[in-house]
Amino acid sequence: MKFSGNNVLVTGSSRGIGSEIAKTLAGFGLKVWINYRTGAKEADAVKETIEEAGGKAAVIGFDVSDEQAFIDAIKTIIDSDGELSYLVNNAGITKDKLALRMKTDDFMSVINANLTSCFIGCRESMKVMRKKKFGAVVNISSIIGETGNAGQTNYAASKGGVIAMTKSFAIEAATSGIRYNSVTPGFIATEMTTILSDDIKDSINAKIPMKRMGKAKEVAEATAFLLSDYSSYITGETLKVNGGMNMA
Ligand code: NAP
Repeated sequence: MKFSGNNVLVTGSSRGIGSEIAKTLAGFGLKVWINYRTGAKEADAVKETIEEAGGKAAVIGFDVSDEQAFIDAIKTIIDSDGELSYLVNNAGITKDKLALRMKTDDFMSVINANLTSCFIGCRESMKVMRKKKFGAVVNISSIIGETGNAGQTNYAASKGGVIAMTKSFAIEAATSGIRYNSVTPGFIATEMTTILSDDIKDSINAKIPMKRMGKAKEVAEATAFLLSDYSSYITGETLKVNGGMNMA
């Protein structure tokens, strides 16, 4: 894949899908800014792995739901590199509970971590990318944002919001040379899913046309495509990475 830009910030890249996105983009020659909230050691380990493979990386810890911290982080990147070419809004959390028992605080904290943070990242990156008339942003949504799910009204609302918001940013930024797209992973094998019992894994796999969970690497490669020059005429798109679930 070909990239005209030079660097990328990947939020929530100390582990899981985000760390795979960071390693994949570093493999394509981008300098990767690895973000974490609590996992400083894990973030350092991702940086080491990238550097051992000959790539360029830096670690930047901040909470994506803290607006000023996000703004300061982008300033740090600009002060260091003189630009921000790409952003992947990947950090996300779940706080599952059936709606009747869900406290408003648990609804709002997921909205803030998954959707408001994404808005801040999209807006702040637009401010710096439009100066160079170049940039691309990928927002990591979820199949749950397309289908809804019992016990996940907060998560579904946040991820559905990400899809619609991405399209709105795409329209507003189209003439500024910035593309905004989202990726909706289905069931991906991460720490979250490896702890499930074999019975639960079997029942999940049975619902997937490809009969297996996805790999974080497969989400990373789809994300890389949407940032790369190979998708230069694609904006406002929602790319499903889910083994064939939920076909329209
Ligand atoms: P994960 O393994 O739980 O990793 C989450 C990452 O986000 C960690 O690096 C974590 O860092 C970071 N993070 C969480 N809250 C943060 C905050 N407020 N500020 C900064 N960093 C924060 O999650 P994952 O499974 O890789 O999921 C990554 C993304 O894909 C999420 O948006 C998720 O909703 C989406 N997704 C996942 C799946 C799946 O099957 N796994 C499916 C669909 C969509 P710390 O450890 O330092 O907190």
